[in-house]
Amino acid sequence: MREYPAPIQTLVALLERLPGVGPKTALRYVFFLLKEAKTTVPALVTALQSLEQALRPCRLCRTYTTDELCDVCRDPRRDPSTLCVVADARDVGTIGAAGFQGRFHVLGGTISPLEGMGPDALELHTLTARLQEDRSIHEVILAFNPDPDGETTMLYLSRLLHAFPVKVSRLARGLPVGADLEFADEATLGDAIKRRWEV
Ligand SMILES: [Zn+2]
Repeated sequence: MREYPAPIQTLVALLERLPGVGPKTALRYVFFLLKEAKTTVPALVTALQSLEQALRPCRLCRTYTTDELCDVCRDPRRDPSTLCVVADARDVGTIGAAGFQGRFHVLGGTISPLEGMGPDALELHTLTARLQEDRSIHEVILAFNPDPDGETTMLYLSRLLHAFPVKVSRLARGLPVGADLEFADEATLGDAIKRRWEV
């Protein structure tokens, strides 16, 4: 990479941090952007800035939104009795697409001892505050990847939520062990939601 000027090296290094992008792909992107310096680049800069400036966490569920409340939390047709707890805001779209009609709570990650991520780093206080205030919630569905961090998080949550008068369930084992929710097809995920079991 030393044969390229510093601005190219810097951008390659940044793009390589994106999931699934290696050095060759990063370099291809940079040379594409150099050709698009007057068109795509300014639009990309604006879009990247608005990610930081225009988005904020929803007051209730902590997903990304441009308003105080996100579309799901504002939608009166949503079933207020079921709350699906997920790791990332991305999972809201995945589980919504699988036909889930309730509401969500985004923890912002999973408990991961290997990565030094403890419960304090997660949106747990907002979840418990929500359960205390909103008595229409009767069931909490834990929808995490069936991997070690997901299992640790679900175990922690099931203990934490014992203090509340809600049924706690988790997705059925239709999902392959170690599978990522993101890659499960909608029918499989929809089935795993329907066949959820109480913990
Ligand atoms: Zn929301």
